[in-house]
Formats: sequence, C-alpha cells, structure tokens
Amino acid sequence: MNLKDRFSPSDWENWKWQIQSRIRNAKELQDCISLTPSELETFQNTNRFFEFGTTLYYLSLINPDDPNCPIRKQIIPSPEELEKRPYETIDPLGEEAHMPVRGVTHRYPDRALWYLSHMCAVFCRFCTRKRKVGKSGSTPGSEDWEEAIHYFRTHPEIKEVILSGGDPLSLSDGKIEYLLGALRSISSINHIRIHSRYPVTLPYRITEDLGDVLGKFSPIYFVTHFNHPMELTQVAKERLNLLRERGKVILLNQSVLLKGINDSPEVLSELNYALTSSGVKPYYLHQCDEVFGSSGFRVPIQKGIEIMKSLRGYMSGITVPSYVIDLNGGGGKIPLPTDYLEKTDAEHYYFQNYQGRSFSVPKE
Ligand SMILES: *Cc1c(COP(=O)(O)O)cnc(C)c1O
Ligand code: SF4
Repeated sequence: MNLKDRFSPSDWENWKWQIQSRIRNAKELQDCISLTPSELETFQNTNRFFEFGTTLYYLSLINPDDPNCPIRKQIIPSPEELEKRPYETIDPLGEEAHMPVRGVTHRYPDRALWYLSHMCAVFCRFCTRKRKVGKSGSTPGSEDWEEAIHYFRTHPEIKEVILSGGDPLSLSDGKIEYLLGALRSISSINHIRIHSRYPVTLPYRITEDLGDVLGKFSPIYFVTHFNHPMELTQVAKERLNLLRERGKVILLNQSVLLKGINDSPEVLSELNYALTSSGVKPYYLHQCDEVFGSSGFRVPIQKGIEIMKSLRGYMSGITVPSYVIDLNGGGGKIPLPTDYLEKTDAEHYYFQNYQGRSFSVPKE
C-alpha cells in the first residue's frame, strides 16, 4: 500500500501534522520501508553525529524497488558517512569564525547570512551544517534576533540579508512576518532572500497564509533546493506556483552535485528544464562541501566541469546554473573554471566554442 494511503488526506496535507509525524528512528522507518542489514547497522552508528529525520511526504517519494533511488540516498545514512577524510572538517566554510552576532555570518562585504532555525523538515545526509542542524542548542533566541537586527541597522554596507538555517520556514508565519517587517524597516537593505528546502521536503508548508505574508514584502528572492527531477511532484509544482503568484517571490534554485544522485548531464538537464517550466531559475550547482562524512557524495571537480560543458550551449542559457565551490575555511564561493579559453597571443584570444571548434577574438 502506498504510504500516503495510510493516512487521511486532511492530515497528510497539513504541514504541522507532517512535522509532528516525522520519522525519527530506524524502528519507525522500518514500518514504512525495508532497510538492508547494512543500512540498519549504519543507522545506529551515524545517529550519534547527525540525527535521522524525514517527513512522511518526502519518504513517500522513495521508489522501494530501487536500492539506488535518488531520494533514498539523500536521507538514509550510508556507511561512507562514517569515513572521515583528512581534509574534511566539521565547519568547512568557517561560518562560526565569521559571526559578529550569534546566528549572523557576515563574510561578504554587502550581504549576510542569518541562521534562524536548527530545524529542517528532512535532514539531508550531505548537509554542510550537520554540526548544528537538528541540535536545539544552536538556535538563536529572540534576544539574539534583536542583536542581529541592530547589527544590520548599524552596518549599512549590508544590502542583502539571507534568511537561512536549518530552515527559516520552520518558524511560524507570525515570526517570519515579524522578521521580514524588521528587515524591511532598515532602509540600507536593498533586498531580502530566503533559502528554504520546504518546497522539496514538505511543500504543504507553502500555504496561502504564508504566501500572503511573503507577498506583503515583495520582492523576495526565494531560493529552493531541488536536487533531482523526482522531487518536482505535482504538489511541489502547485506550491511553487503559489509562492510566485500569492507570495510574489522570484524563484531560484540551488542544487548540490551529488554522486549517484544527479551527477549526469541527463539528470541535470531534466531537473533544470523541469525547474524552468515551474518558473524557477537554476541559480547555483554547488560542489559538495568538504564536511565530515561527505566523501560518498562528492563528485570530482573535473567530472563536474565536464558535465557543465555538456549543458552550456546545448541547453537554454536560462536552464544552466553556475557551477561553484565554497572554499574551505571561509574563502567564499567562486565559479569553477570551464576552460573555453584555449590560448592567447599578442593580438588575440583563442576560444573553443561549446562544440569544441576554435574561434579567435581580437584583444581590443
Ligand atoms: C553563499 C553565501 C552567501 C550568498 O552568496 P551569493 O553568491 O550571493 O549567493 C552569503 N553569505 C554566506 C556566508 C554564504 O555562504
Ligand atoms: S534542508 Fe539544508 S540545512 Fe536542512 S538538512 Fe538539508 S541541507 Fe541541511
């Protein structure tokens, strides 16, 4: 029987019910899908580092007949999570070191990331913020909020605040409205961005009420996190539509390049076309951060570059994201090279086009 059919539609479509009914341990999980013996053993060992958690909604997207199902791989722990490579760290992006106020990472001159909640609907096994996601002690409280708002107000060089986490949409609509209102009252802030995975892991969170809250502060740049075309379900598409129409947001997507999940031109092109047809612009494709236990997910950069070269030129430019790496230790994000420049001489650049043919361009 389909997992969804075990519950009433009114429960299933209620995001608060979905949050309360999240699957948090192996026993509950085994009531829903069967685990292999090795998955079960891994489960016990990984839980110490990074909790398990998924919504029933996201779990129901798993294809039980495919041991390599791309949804399964994102949420069920694998033995590779226990392997720590020498270069992997607990805080690869050095976020804690760039925190002037609890919860605020101010790394770039004109924008700051604001960590608002340790809660996510689903705990993604490749998460960069494993060190704090799922751990209640890491959530900034309301006194920290006031300090952060004061910081944004007194640092007019900050033109963009990014609501992040964890997942900022784990907060109630009332709190989100309060935060957006506070940010909008700061005249030096040019625009607001929200990073959330709810459209993927629990689209029922995107209610008409939430749409109305976001719509009051339009335009908001809303960055989703779809990694695979299977995640763009009918309900996800409907709620993306709600975000655009009622929430008046501009929708972008960031994906992480993940081994065995989306590391092929076919999967990425299907994903990026599906996003574009839902009104979402593919923004970034991230090289997987060097967070401890992520080696099973990481794709060699050279392979990532080749995949990007097989997209660029062949597909609408609107569907092609920038392939970026966030440099270990807090160096920030940079685009990864795609080597279209073959050589230069005194007067010319020599480029290869997307098909590999050579063209010269004068230097002046
Ligand atoms: C990724 C990130 C941003 C946003 O970078 P963009 O390139 O503008 O998307 C801002 N602050 C921090 C700390 C980040 O990690
Ligand atoms: S939604 Fe984002 S922050 Fe939350 S577990 Fe997944 S990757 Fe980490």
